[in-house]
Amino acid sequence: MSKFLSKDYLSIKPYVPGEQPKIDSLIKLNTNESPFPPSNKAIEEATKVLNKLNLYPDPECTELRKTFASKLTNNLTEKNIIVGNGSDEILYLAFMSFKDNGFVFCDITYGFYGVYAKISGAKYKEIPLKKDYTIDIESLINSKENIVIANPNAPTGIAISLKEIERIVSSNRNRLVIVDEAYVDFGADSAINLVEQYDNLLIVQTFSKSRSLAGARVGFGIANEEIIKDLNLYKYSLNPYNINKISLALACGVINDEEYTQGNISTIITTREYTVEALKNLGFDCLNSKSNFIFVKNDKISGFELYTKLRQRKILVRYFDKDRLREYVRITIGSKNQMEKLIEETKNILEELK
Ligand code: PMP
Repeated sequence: MSKFLSKDYLSIKPYVPGEQPKIDSLIKLNTNESPFPPSNKAIEEATKVLNKLNLYPDPECTELRKTFASKLTNNLTEKNIIVGNGSDEILYLAFMSFKDNGFVFCDITYGFYGVYAKISGAKYKEIPLKKDYTIDIESLINSKENIVIANPNAPTGIAISLKEIERIVSSNRNRLVIVDEAYVDFGADSAINLVEQYDNLLIVQTFSKSRSLAGARVGFGIANEEIIKDLNLYKYSLNPYNINKISLALACGVINDEEYTQGNISTIITTREYTVEALKNLGFDCLNSKSNFIFVKNDKISGFELYTKLRQRKILVRYFDKDRLREYVRITIGSKNQMEKLIEETKNILEELK
């Protein structure tokens, strides 16, 4: 660290992203990316803008916001939408913009919430997940702080119902409730239809998972117009051109290729259920995932040992060195072939322990 770093940041422990190693023929199941390439329509749209890159992108992302809104089944318009450089950026804007009441989130959840809370200088509180790794809804009713929930949660993959979300939102009308729906397309219910009714709800979504655009960095905030204006205040004070032209075009293209997206989602869900069944047959406990990843453990092997042995076999999964998570590994659902290989190698690893 240089002598110039602000003391405000001395205690920040940055988020550690999953590895992106350059190992040939690696089966990469560690960062919840899609195994499928971006839609052809998206690529077609993106190629059209390449010769226009001498110009800045539209800071308002008007076409993308309109296209996104046009597919919603409620009365929301582009005024209810902000686009972020990944949903991470929307979360960052929200933590910075709405920090005065502090934040509450689960002790086991997306690691960035704690980092953003810290860097914003906000007070924050972590509530423990219950013994079965589900969220303690009661502790989020009539909260003193703004609430941040990932639904489904990460890395557990467990979802809560729309009714439970509404209970939390309706009991906290003077607190903001941020629902991070990064993985919602894989089997949970979105709370997007509650936005019209509740001015204290901010939904965060991403095109990184179900829409195969992790590398393009496109995320969305969906909320009451006033909340969107507040987020824009910060965005325009930070980086007005936050989404590049290529990503804007890719995102518009993929919205207009819903058939491709839905096909991929349903394949991932089928492959998830296949993988869970096979791992259960090998003695694994699998939390009930509604995501494109599963969180699994086997009493015969620690999370770290399984992670290490799979890595030696060129299969990369995610291991978290944290209380209550050490026994587990998180496995992204890849293609059927990748999962067959994972299951085969896991079986070999368990055999070798005998
Ligand atoms: N929320 C959750 C729960 C996530 O796991 C991730 C992915 N790491 C994100 C948000 C951010 O995704 P992105 O910035 O790619 O949209």
